[in-house]
Amino acid sequence: MAEPVVIATWAFGKLAVEVASKMLTEGKSALDAVIAGAQAVENDPSVRSVGFGSLPDRIGRLTLDSCVMDGKTLDCGAVAGLEHIRSASAVARRVMEKTPHVLLTGEGAKWFALQQGFALEMPHTLDGIREWIEKHPKAKKPGEKEQYNGPEDITLPISEWNHDTVTVLGLDQAGNLGGVCTTSGLAYKLPGRVGDSPIIGAGLYADNEAGAAGATGVGEEVIRISGSTYVVELMRAGKKPQEACELAAKRMNAVAVRRGVHPPRCAFIALSPKGEIGAAATEGTEFQYARFKGGKIELLKAKEVALNK
Ligand code: ASP
Repeated sequence: MAEPVVIATWAFGKLAVEVASKMLTEGKSALDAVIAGAQAVENDPSVRSVGFGSLPDRIGRLTLDSCVMDGKTLDCGAVAGLEHIRSASAVARRVMEKTPHVLLTGEGAKWFALQQGFALEMPHTLDGIREWIEKHPKAKKPGEKEQYNGPEDITLPISEWNHDTVTVLGLDQAGNLGGVCTTSGLAYKLPGRVGDSPIIGAGLYADNEAGAAGATGVGEEVIRISGSTYVVELMRAGKKPQEACELAAKRMNAVAVRRGVHPPRCAFIALSPKGEIGAAATEGTEFQYARFKGGKIELLKAKEVALNK
């Protein structure tokens, strides 16, 4: 029997770890446990970048992205740009279980969720609306030209936009790995923008034979290096999860240098089939992660990989 382990991104991931670790200790599957953990964060209205407390896009629409993956079967499912449905991770799981597809987007994802019996809900919280108005680039500088006025403005520093994702990886007593990634992406994003979080191989990957990995940070840059697949394939080739995460952060830096841009704030977490854990981030990310191992839940700061390393 394997010792159950859970790991999740950011301080709000502690809630996910609390929920998931309890389920794993009771003998539930990794996938059930991590999704229940992620849903607890989706349901927390104080979290501004996951679930219903999130800040909307540039035109005030709150859209959610999520994916799930079962390390035993490599079954996976995802939704992107999902509107008016509370739990994107639960819908991603239904895509995996009830359709022959992997990813449903926008109206199609919503239609599918309604068909599956999910409730149509009003997503915004009052605090979320207030913060969206206060921090909206247009509202911030009254009288000035609106900053995010068209697709050409996409070059504005994304690092300044509010974002963060809860990615939860778990190992259950049967020795199976499972993972989930759920987010509203970037606040004030262009309508239709999709990041790494619903993309299998970018925001998440899980394979019992190699390990599981997940990402958070500027999704465009995670997609560019197929971040989670990169980490898992390094583990398949024999690297420990910690080294694999550090190499992914290093690769982020190298790609940024090659492209002549400042490295984005990004972080990776990883879990091996033996329950070993890894976490690393690019410099300045101040990335924290929560973990359950050896019966203890802790919030830890990840190692940062400096640009010149
Ligand atoms: N990766 C997410 C996205 O780009 C945001 C984050 O995790 O900070 O949509």
